[in-house]
Amino acid sequence: MTTPAPRPIEVACPTCGETTVYAASNAFRPFCSARCQGQDFGAWANEAYRVEAPPSSEDQDEAER
Ligand SMILES: [Zn+2]
Repeated sequence: MTTPAPRPIEVACPTCGETTVYAASNAFRPFCSARCQGQDFGAWANEAYRVEAPPSSEDQDEAER
């Protein structure tokens, strides 16, 4: 009788969609590589920055007068 080996949890990389192992052996989880990890973080940071600093029409009106 054989004992079933624990299956590695596989997830899709949020950046490229490639299947990657979500385990301690994967330092970039849930991404497949450092490259995908960096790309996703860059996009997230840009998005966050955009939300944090919305264009203010009031300031523009003030400057025009
Ligand atoms: Zn990837």
